[in-house]
Amino acid sequence: PEEYGTEGNLTLGDIFIAVKTTKRFHQSRMELLLDTWISRAREQTYVFTDEEDDALKRRMGDHVVFTNCSTEHSHLALSCKMAAEFDAFLASGQSWFCHLDDDNYLNPQALLQLLSSYSATQDVYLGKPSLNRPIRASETLPNNRTKSVRFWFATGGAGFCISSKLARKMVPWASGRNFLNTSELIRLPDDCTMGYIIECKVGGQLLSNALFHSHLENLQLIPTSRLTQQVTLSYGVFENKLNVIELGGPFSPQEDPSRFRSLHCHLYPDTSWCLQAVGW
Ligand code: UDP
Ligand code: MN
Repeated sequence: PEEYGTEGNLTLGDIFIAVKTTKRFHQSRMELLLDTWISRAREQTYVFTDEEDDALKRRMGDHVVFTNCSTEHSHLALSCKMAAEFDAFLASGQSWFCHLDDDNYLNPQALLQLLSSYSATQDVYLGKPSLNRPIRASETLPNNRTKSVRFWFATGGAGFCISSKLARKMVPWASGRNFLNTSELIRLPDDCTMGYIIECKVGGQLLSNALFHSHLENLQLIPTSRLTQQVTLSYGVFENKLNVIELGGPFSPQEDPSRFRSLHCHLYPDTSWCLQAVGW
């Protein structure tokens, strides 16, 4: 029966991975991802950006989507990209939608293992809550009144995944122009809007998972021996300090400030540039 279709033997091919980026990060962030984890998940990864770029197009072919979204860091510009990701996922017919920022490292095998323990034919929303309590927002009602709402959301900077069953229920609020309208209604960023739609509109629920990480947490606290089991990692600035995972090598912090290249070599030691780095 249909219910068993995606269970048991989930493959990477069942997962749609969307990476959000912007013109000014094509070189500084996307090249790193392309050299590392995207090289191991090329078929299912699509990059959503805001400006044409021949260099990126050469590396990604038709897996780079040039949205008409503005290059601003405004709620609306970011929601525009999220809507494009969501619509592309729906069109793909795949079982799982996973969103990532361009400063995330994704471990595709860890993701596959995690999603294998859920069914895409159920309502599933997986990620890392950015707060330890539900967010409160004020929803604008048609008659100019407002309603106070509470909901959990997965922080976009740690990546999150949604099952196709849940995604289809979200269409009236999340697809195309609807996503922009919904995000205007609560005047919050795209990742909050996702949580709002799922928890307040379609009756879903965020399942908090400790394997997703953003740079808004202290990444040094993840034990080095556990790094290869995490689904997502990140790098960046946290409380005014450089925030990266704790990993000795093979690359130095100068050669590999994000530590993503070093992590990649621990996961895939057969990578050509990893062999050179350790002098084999
Ligand atoms: N981003 C974007 N447009 C912008 C700024 C950022 O699409 O004008 C994307 C960026 O590529 C990344 C995400 O939004 O995928 C988060 O940006 P960033 O990491 O710079 O900020 P954070 O919110 O993590 O501090
Ligand atoms: Mn970031």
